[in-house]
Amino acid sequence: MADQIDEVMGLCALCGPDDGQTKVLRQSHFLPKSVYRYLNLSKAENTKLLLRTSKKNRVFSLGKQITHALLCDTCEGIMSAGGEDYYAKMMLRVDVKNELPSPAYKILFESLMPLWKAPGNGYRPNMILSIGSNSLKVIDSRQLYHFVIGMFWKSTFDDWDHCSVMPLEASLIEAMRKFLLGGDSLAGYIVRIVPSLWRAKYGVVFPVLLQKQPFFSIQQFDFYLEKDKRQFKRAISMDAVPLFYTIDLMRSESTFQGMSGIYKNAEQTKSAEETQLSWPAE
Ligand SMILES: [Zn+2]
Repeated sequence: MADQIDEVMGLCALCGPDDGQTKVLRQSHFLPKSVYRYLNLSKAENTKLLLRTSKKNRVFSLGKQITHALLCDTCEGIMSAGGEDYYAKMMLRVDVKNELPSPAYKILFESLMPLWKAPGNGYRPNMILSIGSNSLKVIDSRQLYHFVIGMFWKSTFDDWDHCSVMPLEASLIEAMRKFLLGGDSLAGYIVRIVPSLWRAKYGVVFPVLLQKQPFFSIQQFDFYLEKDKRQFKRAISMDAVPLFYTIDLMRSESTFQGMSGIYKNAEQTKSAEETQLSWPAE
């Protein structure tokens, strides 16, 4: 029935463990709705997920939006206002008409590239340049951190079609939940954002463990959760969000190639549906 209202009642995954109350659950999106919206701006007809390498505009299908009754209204709001909206505005929104990158991409490119390329710095392809969130105050890293932790946390639920479950320790998942509700950042961990400054990527890789590290990628940015007590302590001692922006050509490239390899393997073993990666066949 077109006018039928489906209401799913249940325990909200975010606030439910604390208050134990049954609430109306919303059809939560695994990827923020805005990701679909922006990817759709440049999609080919009848496709959703895009991945484009260099000048070959190859496009792959993602299928329908992945949703699941996970969160109550209030918690949907916490996820949006906590980071998803800011992420969409800063990292996702590309000015297609004027061929301009997202605001965050532009900021990172303009502030990191000159440092990386400075003559005194050597400019070797294997040079890694990392800066802490407090060195880049023009970006609200706290909101990006919330978004990234939110993505990893959601990926630990097994109810999403086509997504494999991120196998994280229960204590870490609980720390993520507490943080999302306004608690402390994850002790001993940092989030690393690696912009792809050399490859044009227009696609999505759902959260997976990549060399034992939680990872996902949307368009020009790769996101990692890394165990790093030292960097975590350093960030916290400076009252900074434990999030780092890193230029790492080798990692960027090997991630790109690695993801390409994962896809090829997945295709061969017919598990592509499970991993939901799309990548061009060479
Ligand atoms: Zn809730």
